[in-house]
Amino acid sequence: MVTATHTPGVPVIDDGRLVSTNPATGEEIGRFPAATPADVAAAVRRARQAAAWWSALGFAGRRERLLRWRAALANRLDELTDLIHREGGKPVAEAVVESAGAIDHIAWAAKHARSVLGPRRVRSSLMQLEYSSRLEYLPFGVVGVIGPWNYPVLTPVGSIGYALAAGNTVVFKPSEYTPAIGQWIVERFAEVVPEHPVLSAVYGIGETGAALCRSGVDKLAFTGSTATGKKVMAACAETLTPVLAECGGKDAMIVDADADLDGAVAAAVWGGMTNAGQTCVGIERVYVADRVYDAFLQRLVERAARLRVGMEDDADFGPITMPGQIDTIRRHIADALDRGGKAALGGLDAVQPPYVRPTILVDVPEDAAAVVEETFGPTLTVTRVPDADEAVRLANASRYGLGGAVFSRTRGVALARQLRSGMTSVNSAISFAGMPTLPFGGVGDSGFGRIHGADGLREFARPKAITKRRMRSLLPALSFDRTPKQVAQIAKAVKLLHGRPR
Ligand code: NDP
Repeated sequence: MVTATHTPGVPVIDDGRLVSTNPATGEEIGRFPAATPADVAAAVRRARQAAAWWSALGFAGRRERLLRWRAALANRLDELTDLIHREGGKPVAEAVVESAGAIDHIAWAAKHARSVLGPRRVRSSLMQLEYSSRLEYLPFGVVGVIGPWNYPVLTPVGSIGYALAAGNTVVFKPSEYTPAIGQWIVERFAEVVPEHPVLSAVYGIGETGAALCRSGVDKLAFTGSTATGKKVMAACAETLTPVLAECGGKDAMIVDADADLDGAVAAAVWGGMTNAGQTCVGIERVYVADRVYDAFLQRLVERAARLRVGMEDDADFGPITMPGQIDTIRRHIADALDRGGKAALGGLDAVQPPYVRPTILVDVPEDAAAVVEETFGPTLTVTRVPDADEAVRLANASRYGLGGAVFSRTRGVALARQLRSGMTSVNSAISFAGMPTLPFGGVGDSGFGRIHGADGLREFARPKAITKRRMRSLLPALSFDRTPKQVAQIAKAVKLLHGRPR
């Protein structure tokens, strides 16, 4: 346990309470009871008792309540975005964009859960026509959700909203950097669903998350770094608890020779520097076709140099939320410069805690930390490539595979399909994240499983298959009472049905 100080942004436990502070000013935002493993277990027990009631409400009952929750969030948007700004440091405008996406996801999940997960008849095979077949997706029970601080609403709600719509109850462990935002979201839910603790929160540091993994939840949805994701998986493996892992990224943007350069510049600056670059699907690497490289770089530097950094109302981005991350950003810039890279904008002087100003690095070797590791700061590496195909090769060399972007007038979708990642935006950046109809998640070190969309609903449900006899079997394969003659007929039927190559 650490003792109480008010170093900006550094959460502490003081007398059994988690103290959250503003990352720029150190202003205390709130105090939250730090949950012990016994507290976490008790929250999960309560959620389990609530699960039968929530599940029995059915799709219509849950839809109505989830839509009321989404309305409560929408109607108090100003309060929410002010809190996001104060506790996480993000400008209010960016908090509005984040919250809007989260609210849209709740509405979509509420309205589509029945069509995606509800009971349906499915066709039976010709070999077993005497049975009818039914499929439905049932809730797991209690889902544990562990969230990060960088998108403290959009990211956890991507799991919470879909898990609730699927009929689960949820115990949510917000990041130690953003407990007040987590509490605010849960309180709004409790106002519209006061009957039972369908959605509850437990507060604390990493140990609280570890306790949630071991608490007997029926599924654990984790969003955070790859390193912590591995610990979460190891803890969940002890009880064979299924895991959804939404982890880090090192997303690339490809700028083809025929790209709309102004559009590509705007997307690279926003995609790379929104939220001070603290975005799992933020653009960190840009690969630009030789023919347009110089023009792109010049416009990129001009645009990024105009960004305003600070806590003021007109700032484009704010502080680095987690003070420890500043060392990583500094190390990546220093390593890039030591290894022959140049700062076309910013550089080591741009690191002015708690802020980092826009930094654009060029001529950085492909094995430098700034190209290989997640930087999580307002930095971009920009690399000249002969053509977009080489860009795809380099983009795919990462061990991460979360999102990405392609700018091309003629080959956008074709290039997007070649990127080894879960999502790609064509002629935009990060546009997939707020799209409720599309699944969100990565490959490789970026994790597995999906939030959002129909796949995001299925992620929080278990398929239940039912077959029912509807007539006598002509060929009773599944019985010791079958005769040798019937077995011969089954063999003949297999050859008839499946014996042709096409
Ligand atoms: P961390 O991995 O540090 O923490 C994530 C969550 O896990 C926090 O709530 C944290 O608690 C908790 N935690 C820490 N240790 C443990 C443990 N041993 N067992 C269980 N839970 C634990 O990530 P950050 O919060 O720093 O978030 C940034 C990372 O998240 C980046 O890598 C980013 O790319 C990734 N991310 C991925 C997204 C995606 O959708 N793929 C979206 C957003 C972010 P505490 O904070 O209290 O330590």
